[in-house]
Amino acid sequence: MASLKKVLNCLFLFLAGCSGMEQSEQEKLRRLNAKGEFVLRNHDEYEYRLETPEHRVREKYPWEMAYIGKHSKITKQYFRCKGSSLNPPHVDHKDPSRAANYFDCGGSQKHSLPIREDKEFVYPILIDLLNYVQAKTGCKAIITCGHRCPIHNAYADNSAYNQNSKHMVGAEVDFYLQGMEQRPEEVIKILMGYYKEMSIYKGDKQYQEFQKLEKGEFNVSTRPWYNKEILIKLYLKNEGRDFDNRHPYPYISVQVRFDREANEKVICDWGKAFNGYRRF
Ligand SMILES: [Zn+2]
Repeated sequence: MASLKKVLNCLFLFLAGCSGMEQSEQEKLRRLNAKGEFVLRNHDEYEYRLETPEHRVREKYPWEMAYIGKHSKITKQYFRCKGSSLNPPHVDHKDPSRAANYFDCGGSQKHSLPIREDKEFVYPILIDLLNYVQAKTGCKAIITCGHRCPIHNAYADNSAYNQNSKHMVGAEVDFYLQGMEQRPEEVIKILMGYYKEMSIYKGDKQYQEFQKLEKGEFNVSTRPWYNKEILIKLYLKNEGRDFDNRHPYPYISVQVRFDREANEKVICDWGKAFNGYRRF
């Protein structure tokens, strides 16, 4: 019995001594391999100081950028041809020399806007003017006619006067302002004001000063206004009632006369109108 106790004691001592040895060996190795990394700071540094947050106006979300005031920004999409294959054909009875069946086009689903450099194109000055008027008045611009393909142009107004309409090349727009329907003269003043306010026209009288058109044929009783870049026409409520303008309000038409970017006169001929857009 006594010998068994001795054996057990010896075994216990052996095991205890062994594990103690192992620990101290491990510690030695750890110290040998340990690399020091020190936290360095200056004597007066205690903590990171956070700047007091400043209030700043939040940036606009992309969808908010598409608005001016409460109205959608005008883009070239608003200028798409208003034709539709659902519109019934009609015969012109007023002018026997032009009597024919007029069929409408398939509308914007069947053809594009005018094409320039492989992209759909509307003269940017028209878009800028409409956005300016919207911003100044807070009223929504209703575009009754932007681009008209030659087929819809003939369908909407087959008069000889309209044959070379600049609507066909994206250089003309008809519109009125919702809420200012009966005050188109005020809107025209704002359009002219655009040229006084924009710095790119600063000091250039050809753009800043408007004149009245004296000569030439025009289909309105109010003489149109023009500067180098645009011509503004006022259609009274009994004038210019073509297919696109079947509403009871006076309306304004703006035509582009001069392309500032290309430095050339804007004209519309049949070839340019007919070949200038894509059919789908
Ligand atoms: Zn069309």
